This record gives sequence, structure tokens and C-alpha cells, in this order.
Amino acid sequence: MTAASPAANSAATQRFSVVVVGAGPAGLTVGSILRAAGVDCLVLETGTRAFIERRPRAGVIEEWAVRGLERRGLARTLLERAQTHTECEFRFAGERYRFAYTELTGSHHYIYPQQFLVTDLVREYADVRGGEIRFGVRDVRLHGLESGRPSVSYLCPDSGERCVVDAGFVAGCDGARGVTRTALPPGRARVARHDYGLGWLALLAEAPPSCDCVVFGMHPRGFAGHMARSPEVTRYYLQCPPGDDPENWPHERVWAQLRERLGAAGAPPLKEGRLIERRVLDMHNYVVEPMAFGRLFLAGDAAHLTAPIAAKGLNLALHDAFLLGDGLVAALTKGDDTGLSGYSATCLARVWDYQEFSQWLSGLYHGTASGDPYRAGAALARLRRLFDSPVAARAFAEQYLGCRTTG
Ligand code: FAD
Repeated sequence: MTAASPAANSAATQRFSVVVVGAGPAGLTVGSILRAAGVDCLVLETGTRAFIERRPRAGVIEEWAVRGLERRGLARTLLERAQTHTECEFRFAGERYRFAYTELTGSHHYIYPQQFLVTDLVREYADVRGGEIRFGVRDVRLHGLESGRPSVSYLCPDSGERCVVDAGFVAGCDGARGVTRTALPPGRARVARHDYGLGWLALLAEAPPSCDCVVFGMHPRGFAGHMARSPEVTRYYLQCPPGDDPENWPHERVWAQLRERLGAAGAPPLKEGRLIERRVLDMHNYVVEPMAFGRLFLAGDAAHLTAPIAAKGLNLALHDAFLLGDGLVAALTKGDDTGLSGYSATCLARVWDYQEFSQWLSGLYHGTASGDPYRAGAALARLRRLFDSPVAARAFAEQYLGCRTTG
């Protein structure tokens, strides 16, 4: 929400060079880059520290993104603990097909649960680099973005008073349900949307992975996915109607459907376990263009959502954060605005590349169960091409790993 001027109750207004709204992977990475360069900044977060350090979401991180974290001193624990994956497996028409993407690209995936990454980033930003973070804030509002003297206000969780913070720049990193995106005045930004018209039941099972790689099952009953998260926890997905009620998916039905949709000749049986997360994600995407307005810069899901079809959202959030953090440091410490002026266009090139790949992959995943023989036939042709044509295989591998362009 935008307001012309904040009505503050707090006695003294504080000032920070950068106020970051949202302590997800994007916001914490921007904050950590700023602190490493000695830039003062404040992170505002609606959740508690315990909450954000336990919230499970992504797990597949592209190698260039981990190298980007490493270059900025943010990957030490990840590199010690993460698994690496070099292959994935497609299962369709009762058969399994291994796809060795590292052989084709020299690049691999890291498997590291998002909550572990957030835990590492909070520690680095706040405990190691001395960054300030206020948890539990309410009703965040942005003011005067075009004035050259923007400010951010919020309700303090302890006093209930509205506090005001003057900011040189505002980084809008508050995810898909945040408020910073709404500060872009209508007519100054375009929002492109796509709705896939289907849902995924996102599951976390207290069970070891059933396979040593990510598995995609294309089945007439719907897509199913298997993704390792840790030696004890595995993520599974089941395609379902959009808006479906997770209560429609009791334990027995979930495992019966996973067994059926991921079944293939010679496939090892699934290792079953208690379901510790069951939520329905409606598959939709959006892209906000441009990703900047005045002194506000959006990053991550605040600017663009990619349904987890291609496991790209966290990777894009990190790409934005690297560019934004580096651009803000250059502007604030050297007076060099080049990075910030090119920020939106550079981010959007990768965003649209990943959006298009998700769209393509959705056809491959969901065509078989579409009920439309034409789409089902096209999906099968798309799948077979990956194993018949070295050129198609390489193109897929590059897009799956995001290694065509570098971060
Ligand atoms: P977020 O992680 O959403 O962080 C935003 C932060 O802002 C949150 O902490 C939130 O509490 C806070 N906030 C919200 N509103 C406000 C406010 N008004 N004021 C202050 N703070 C606020 N991506 C991948 O790349 N690979 C994967 O394997 C993958 N798997 C996924 C699986 C699932 C089930 C889901 C749901 C997503 C997955 N994603 C994946 C996507 C990935 O999780 C997101 O793209 C990523 O979290 C985006 O990071 P972010 O920092 O932009 O936003």
C-alpha cells in the first residue's frame, strides 16, 4: 500500500541507506551483500525468526546460483551439507528413462531445503555481519517513492505504534503475498499473468528419498513428482484440480496415487512415511514489468512468480538479489548507478527465459492427463525427443540447469 506521508507516533524517525521489506532468500541475500560492503540497512519481516527458519518450500538450487552465493561468502554451510544431483528420471508409459544432464552441460543441481538456506542467511546477515532485522512487523506501507526521500512505515509488534523509517532505497522482497508490489502506481507497471488451470498437491513425507534423483511421472491420472530434500524428508507432488481441498487427500489415497503415477518397470518401491505437509498450490505465474519504480526495486516472488513446475522461483530470487545487492553497493559506495539503471531489464531477461521453460515443461508434464488426445500425443513426442535427439536433450539440460546464461 502507498501513502503520501506517514502518520508517525514514534518520537524519532530513523534513517537507513536501504530498507529491505521481507526476510526471504531475496531480502536476506540483498541485506548480506549490503552489510559486507559496510552499507547500513534494515530488514522488516512480518514473521518471527523461528517461523521463517522452519518454513519448507524449495530445495532444488542451480549451480550458478550456489556459485553466486559462494562468491559473496554465503554458501559455506550449504556446500558442506547439500547433496548434488547430476541426473533426473522421467517415467511414462510404464517405463523409466534416465536423463544425465551433467554429462551434457558439466553443471549440476544442489539439493538444500530452503529453510536451511534462510537459517544460514539470517545468521550471516544479523549475527555475523551485524545487520538489523525487525521481526513481527505489521501493516508495512511505502511512502514518497518518487520524491527522492522515500520512507517505510509499519506497526511495531510491541507497542502497536506506527514507526517510520527514512530510506535511501527500498528493496521490495516480500514475496507473492507482500505489499511492495502494490506501491507501483497503475499505468507505471504492467503485470503479465498466466494461469495453468490446474493444481499440485504439495507433500512432504517423513521418509527417505525413494530414488537417488528427481523423478517426474507423466501418467494419464496426472503428473507426479519425487524430489529429495534431506536423508529424512522427501517432497512429492500430485497433480490435482485447482482449489482442491487437501482433506480430500488422506494418507492412503496419497500413497496409492503416488505408487500408481510413479510406477514403472524396474522402479524401486516408494519409501512411505507420515505426511508432514499437505497443501494445494494453484499453478499460476505473473511477471511485473518494470521491476523498479523511483527508489523502489522489487526482487524475487514480489516481482515474478513461477509455479514450482520447473523449480525456478528461488533461483530467480537469488539472481535478482545478486544484481540488486551489487547495484545498491555500487550506487551507495561509488556513486555508480549503472547496475541499478539496468537492473530491471537484466533480471527480466532471465525471468522470461524461465517463464517460457516452465510453460514448455507444463505441456510435457500435464499433456498426458489433459483428456485431450492431441495434447497427450504432443506431450509424448516432446518426451521422446529428449531421448532421440542429442540437440533437444542438450537444450533441455541447459534450461533445466539455467546454465545458458550466467548469474
Ligand atoms: P519469500 O521466500 O516468499 O520471502 C518473502 C518474505 O517476506 C517472507 O519471509 C514473508 O514472511 C515476508 N513478508 C511477506 N509480506 C510482508 C510484508 N508485508 N512486510 C514484511 N515482510 C513480509 N523454487 C526453486 O527455485 N526451486 C524449488 O525447488 C522450489 N520448490 C518450491 C516448492 C514449493 C512447495 C513452493 C511453494 C515454492 C517452491 N519454489 C522453488 C519457489 C520458492 O520457494 C520461492 O520462489 C522463493 O521463496 C522466493 O523467495 P523470495 O525471497 O522472493 O520470497
